[in-house]
Amino acid sequence: MKQISTFGASTHQIGDLQLLRNAHDDAAIARLLAHCPVMRLEADEAVTDSSKARLYIVLRGALSVATDTRTGMADGTVSKILPGESVGEQSVLDEEANLSSITALEESDVLVIEAEIVWQLIDESNVLARNLLRLLSFRIRAANAQLRRRQKLGEFYRQLSMIDGLTGLYNRAWLNDLLPTMITTAHGSNSPLALIMIDLDHFKRFNDSHGHLAGDQALRSAAQVLSGALRPTDFAVRYGGEEMMVLLPDTQRKVALAVAERLCERMQQAVVFSDMRAPLPHITASFGVAILQPHQSEQDLIAVADAALYRAKELGRNQVAQEEPA
Ligand code: GH3
Ligand code: MG
Ligand code: MG
Repeated sequence: MKQISTFGASTHQIGDLQLLRNAHDDAAIARLLAHCPVMRLEADEAVTDSSKARLYIVLRGALSVATDTRTGMADGTVSKILPGESVGEQSVLDEEANLSSITALEESDVLVIEAEIVWQLIDESNVLARNLLRLLSFRIRAANAQLRRRQKLGEFYRQLSMIDGLTGLYNRAWLNDLLPTMITTAHGSNSPLALIMIDLDHFKRFNDSHGHLAGDQALRSAAQVLSGALRPTDFAVRYGGEEMMVLLPDTQRKVALAVAERLCERMQQAVVFSDMRAPLPHITASFGVAILQPHQSEQDLIAVADAALYRAKELGRNQVAQEEPA
């Protein structure tokens, strides 16, 4: 970056500068800018003195600004600064170092205004102060809009990471996140929480006979049975492998058992297609029902439901069992 002129000696007009729009007949501004250096940057050349607070106004060419100080967001955003536009005004105002990296996209001429001159310009010219406020306001809006987009995107990915890819049910990460809260809520409000543990019967055999892809299809059908039969306040989770779980907030034992029976019935009626030619044999599942007891933790509740599921398997599968009365 080398000085080729001063603004006063150059052919550039004050009226061409965005920050000085409507201030071209202001003699004080002309006087203050006259001695400011005009620097030339070769293509790809970086502004190396950007650690000091200065205002840069592009007169010719184009600059690229990475980790955007224009919006105040150190997030890797790259923006292009064209003739008349400026960069660095925020670092001048808050006296923080300019953390962005500024590079010329092509051979460019840049007017460099030291911080103290910028302050003198603000003192001298209401028009400039106004332009500066407008510019900052625009940048804050742009930064806020970007932040909102990022938050939305972050929330989208967070939701996505809580869903099982094969079945579309909630996954283990969701369960780890939400079950403790559900347990606390149930304890706190003294409302019953029911948990149904579900395991497909002889599923290894199903896979062995019909192949893993058909097995995947059967898992999808099983998941559809669950999500299709539940109330909007209930949750279906893929606990792992061919084990699934249904959570029924605010649900008494009698109702939970009836729900489990209904799921068991629908499971054996569900039709599984591996392709569109012929349906595969029906699948069945075993169900273990548990109701949250006072002082029980999530592990306790899952263990009880698991024990009930084990009983359902032992009693011959394709049925519902509940925990043994104490
Ligand atoms: P049981 O009636 O006692 O539950 O017998 P099972 O064969 O279902 O039990 P086991 O736990 O021995 O086998 C579970 C099988 O589930 C083994 C595994 O290959 C299959 N499995 C687990 N996850 C998936 C999956 O994502 N896709 C497919 N196709 N199969 C899976
Ligand atoms: Mg099984
Ligand atoms: Mg299993």
